[in-house]
Amino acid sequence: MVALSQSSATVRDKYEPVIGLEVHVQLLTRTKIFCGCSAQFGAPPNTNVCPVCLGMPGALPVLNRRAVEFAVLAAQALGCQVRETSIFARKNYFYPDLPKGYQISQYDKPLAEHGHIAIPAPGGDKKIGITRLHLEEDAGKSLHEGFSDSGNSSYIDLNRSGVPLIEIVSEPDMRSPEEAYEYLTRLKEIILYTGVSDCNMEEGSLRCDANVSVRPRGQEKFGTKTEIKNVNSFRFIRQALEYEIDRHIEIMEEGGKIHQETRLFNANEGRTYSMRSKEEAHDYRYFPEPDLLPLVVDASWQAEIAKMLPELPEARRKRMVRELGITDYDAQVLTSSRLLADQFEQAAKAARNPKRVANLVQSELMGRLKAKGLEIEQSPISMKGVALSADLLEAGIISSKILKDLYDKAFAGGEDFPSVYEREKPQQITDTAALEKMIDQVIAANPKQVEQYRAGKTAVIGFFVGQVMKASQGQAKPELVNELLKKKLG
Ligand SMILES: [Zn+2]
Repeated sequence: MVALSQSSATVRDKYEPVIGLEVHVQLLTRTKIFCGCSAQFGAPPNTNVCPVCLGMPGALPVLNRRAVEFAVLAAQALGCQVRETSIFARKNYFYPDLPKGYQISQYDKPLAEHGHIAIPAPGGDKKIGITRLHLEEDAGKSLHEGFSDSGNSSYIDLNRSGVPLIEIVSEPDMRSPEEAYEYLTRLKEIILYTGVSDCNMEEGSLRCDANVSVRPRGQEKFGTKTEIKNVNSFRFIRQALEYEIDRHIEIMEEGGKIHQETRLFNANEGRTYSMRSKEEAHDYRYFPEPDLLPLVVDASWQAEIAKMLPELPEARRKRMVRELGITDYDAQVLTSSRLLADQFEQAAKAARNPKRVANLVQSELMGRLKAKGLEIEQSPISMKGVALSADLLEAGIISSKILKDLYDKAFAGGEDFPSVYEREKPQQITDTAALEKMIDQVIAANPKQVEQYRAGKTAVIGFFVGQVMKASQGQAKPELVNELLKKKLG
C-alpha cells in the first residue's frame, strides 16, 4: 500500500467504499440449540457432547425454546419484523469441525427481517438497515495451536458444536470503516441490554465478517466485494477494512480487477491475505431441514417475548438527558452498560443533584475503576456511597479535595464510602467563638446578599452557609452555622 499512502487523500476521494457486516452472536442459553448438552464456554474439550451434536446417524434435533425466545427478543430490539413461520434449512459443506457435513441454519424464510440500527453521523443519525436475523447452530472448533505436536497435527473440540447463534446481516449501507465500527458498537450495546448474549469477543460469543467493495464516487453499481472473516475486535475490523479499501483502490488505479474472495486479517502485520475464492449461496445446496418442523412464533408468543424487552440504550439516553438534566455526553458514558446505567440512575434519584452524581461517577469513580482494572460491579464504592458523597459536596460539608481523599481511601481499603466517611470525616468545628469570627467576615464581605436577606429573601441564607463552610474548609457544623447566621443577620 506504499503507492497509495503517498497521494492517499486525493486518490481515496475518487472512490466510495461500500460495507456490509455479518455478525454472529452466541445466545446465553444453558443448553445447546438442538440437544440438552451444556452450552457453557471453557469445559474440557469434547465433554459437552452427545449423539445429536456429534452428528451421529439417526440422532434427531429438538429445538430449544429458550434459544427461540432470545433470538426473537434480539430481533425486536433491532426493530426487525419477526416472521410468524420460519424454516430451518441445511447448509451443506465439509469442514473437519462439522461432523454432520451440514449446519442447521435458516435460509429463504429467516426468523426476522427489515430491522435497523441508528449510528451517529454528521447532521443527525444515519440508519443502517438490517436485512435479516436468523437462528443457526455453531460448528465445533479446530485447534491448530497449543499442543506439543501442533506443528503437524490439528485437534477438534466439539463442545461448541450445536451452541445457538443468531446471525445478523446488515444491508450494504456503511460507507466508511468508522461507520462499520459505530454500527458494531451500537449492535453490541443493544444485544447486551437485552441480555441474550455476553458478546464476549475473546470467547467467540460475538464474531464479525465484513463484506467490502469500492466503486468510483457517483457510480450506482457496486464493485466486486471481498469478505474479511473472523476478526476478533472492533478495532481490528476497522483496521482490516482500511487496509482492504486501500488495496481495492490501488488495484483499480492500476486498471486491475478485484477477485471475489474470502480474506483473513493478520493483526500483527495489519494486512489481509487471500484465503479462498468466495462461495456463493448455491454452493451450499440449501434445502429445508427434514428433521424439524417449521418454527411458528405467533403474535401472542411475540407479544409475550416483547414484555421482556428492556428500555434500549438510545431511548434511555434521551430520557436521562430530559429527566436528570445531564448532558448528551454524560448520558453516552453512563449508558455504556445497562448495569452502569441502572446503578447511576439509582444514585441520581437518591441524591439532591443528579448532575453532580453524573460528574462524580465519570470523574472520580470510573477513573479509579479503570486504574485498578475493575468493573462497575466490583467497585468498592457503591452507588449509595456516590449519592452520599454527592450530597455532602452539594451541601458544602466536604470539599472536593476531601472527597478525592476519601475516595482514594475507599479504593485502597476496598471499603464503601459511607463507612470511610464515618471514620475519617473531618472534625467539626463547634467552637462558637471561632465560627462567629468566620461569620462576621463573610457578612462583611457580602453586603449585597445581607441587604437581600434583610429585605425578606431568606433563601440567601444558603449562600451564607456555603460561604462559611468554605471558609472552614468544610469543618464547621452546618446546623450550628445556620443558627448563628440567623442570629447575626437578624
Ligand atoms: Zn449434544
